[in-house]
Amino acid sequence: MNDMKILVVEDDRSVSNLITTTLKINGCTSYQSASTGNQAIALCSSMNPDLILLDLGLPDIDGIEVIRTVRSWSSAVIIIISARGEDSDKIEALDSGADDYLTKPFSVDEMMARIRAAHRRMLYLRANTETRPEFINGYLRIDYASNLVYVHDTEIHLTNIEYKLLTLLARSVGKVLTHTYIIDRVWGGEMAADIVSLRVYMNSLRKKLKQASNEDLIRTHVGIGYQMVRIEPQ
Ligand code: CA
Repeated sequence: MNDMKILVVEDDRSVSNLITTTLKINGCTSYQSASTGNQAIALCSSMNPDLILLDLGLPDIDGIEVIRTVRSWSSAVIIIISARGEDSDKIEALDSGADDYLTKPFSVDEMMARIRAAHRRMLYLRANTETRPEFINGYLRIDYASNLVYVHDTEIHLTNIEYKLLTLLARSVGKVLTHTYIIDRVWGGEMAADIVSLRVYMNSLRKKLKQASNEDLIRTHVGIGYQMVRIEPQ
C-alpha cells in the first residue's frame, strides 16, 4: 500500500505514534502527520493525500471544520477518529464529507482493515471514471443504462425505491452514508420518510440481494446509517 499517501491528524502524541508505527509496519511509508487542524489543512494542500486519518477533537479548530475545508478541493478518503458515544459528531462528520470512522479506543488491526478497504476503494475509483455504465462489486452487478440488477448473473427484481437505495450505496461504495443523507437522496424531501421506513426498505433490499448469496454487501451502522462494502475481486 505504498502507493497511498496518508495524512495522520492527531494531537495526542501517543496515539499518533501508535498510528504511524502501525502504518510503517504494514508497508505504508508514505505518510505525514499533523497535530492541529490548521497544520492538517496546510499539509493537505501541499501533499494532496489519498487518505486522511482525522481525530475530531483538535486543539485549534474542530475536525468537522477541517473536513469541510479539505472537501472543497480534495477527494481523499477521510476516516475520522472520534471518542466513543459521540454519534452526533460522527453523523455530522459523515454528512460533511467523511467516509468512515473509527471509535476510540480502536485496535490497530481495526484501523488497518479500514485502511485496506480505503485502498481498495481508491484503486476502484482510479480504474472507474464516473460515467461507467456498469457497477460490479463481488456477486453484484448493476447495469445503469437498463436499470437492471444481477446477483451471480441472475436478474433480481427491485422496486423503484430499492433500486434507488442500491445505486446510492453503490455510487458511494465504501462510504458510510447517514440516515438523513439517504432519506434526502432517495425521497428528495417529497415524502417525510423516517428512519423506520428506511429500515423496512433496506431490509427488503438486503433480503433480495442475499437470496443468491450469503455474503452481505450492506453493512448497518447502528444509529448512524449504512455502507456498501467493497469486495475484493477474486
Ligand atoms: Ca484529540
